[in-house]
Amino acid sequence: MNVTFNENDIRPDELVKKQEQYCQHDIEFLKSRKGSFVEVACPACGKANQDICFKKHDIDYIECKNCGMLYISPRPTVEILGEYYSNSPNYKFFNDYIFPASKEVRREKIFIPRVKKILEYCNKYKVKKDKLIEIGAGFGIFCEEMIKTKEFQEICGIEATENLAQTCRNNGIKIYEGLIENIDIKEKFNVAVAFEVIEHIFSPKNFIEKIANILEENGLLMLTFPNWEGFDISLLREYSGSVDPEHLNYFTKKSIRILLEKSGFEVLEIITPGELDVDIVLKTVQKNNLSIPKILHKICVEERDTTGKKFQNFLKENCLSSHMMTIARLK
Ligand SMILES: [Zn+2]
Repeated sequence: MNVTFNENDIRPDELVKKQEQYCQHDIEFLKSRKGSFVEVACPACGKANQDICFKKHDIDYIECKNCGMLYISPRPTVEILGEYYSNSPNYKFFNDYIFPASKEVRREKIFIPRVKKILEYCNKYKVKKDKLIEIGAGFGIFCEEMIKTKEFQEICGIEATENLAQTCRNNGIKIYEGLIENIDIKEKFNVAVAFEVIEHIFSPKNFIEKIANILEENGLLMLTFPNWEGFDISLLREYSGSVDPEHLNYFTKKSIRILLEKSGFEVLEIITPGELDVDIVLKTVQKNNLSIPKILHKICVEERDTTGKKFQNFLKENCLSSHMMTIARLK
């Protein structure tokens, strides 16, 4: 993944400003249901641990002393989340405006590199290319691009949002509509992918187990998600845009490994191909007038285009970016 891009390409500034008011609405909705939130143990290792790391929007973020992951507890139930995602004006705005405005950049810089990566891993680990499923297919761009390669015989997706599922079908993609946890899928796949999904899930353990049930033996699973130990998230903490009430789980290298191994997977690779840490720190520091250590200010703000670029590459290569990707194989 050598394509470089900045945050403005995929989240245009103008639209982001408008989006903020819708975000506020979503946060208020979740806060209004706080009385029905439930306490959970660590979603990765299962250890109970109720030390609050910080609060944001009156929601508690817990850091697990055992595996290091950050998670929301008490958290919204599956029912509250269902209501949230079907009524969210923020998602509607994203789907109607932000995504269409940035669709082609995303195709070029995010989805096509992902397709290439998956094909590389299939070859590297000698995985059969009969059937692939994407959990959380969204607008179907990944599936569309994978279909174009003609490498897999069959490609399908799971999508819970009705109009997105329809968009995928209109583009010729077979779709299971609903949440993977609630759908009875009879077929099995050689490859499953889920991009930026697991952080939203009430029970990551159920989610991964369900995926294990629909994979063939030696089937490959690729996940991407925010890394709590990554540069921008661990530095910015509650100021990080990635830390918001709908992201319930912030895995780390150690915690995702524990979760996958518990569900019968062998972890093959954990990488952080992120490009945006320095950009995100720069924007967040300017927007909130945040004070960060001088040396980091120099790298991310004053020398963003020179030292900052090299620093981003360093983060990427040393598993320190906030955008994490795992490749695992079902044993
Ligand atoms: Zn843990």
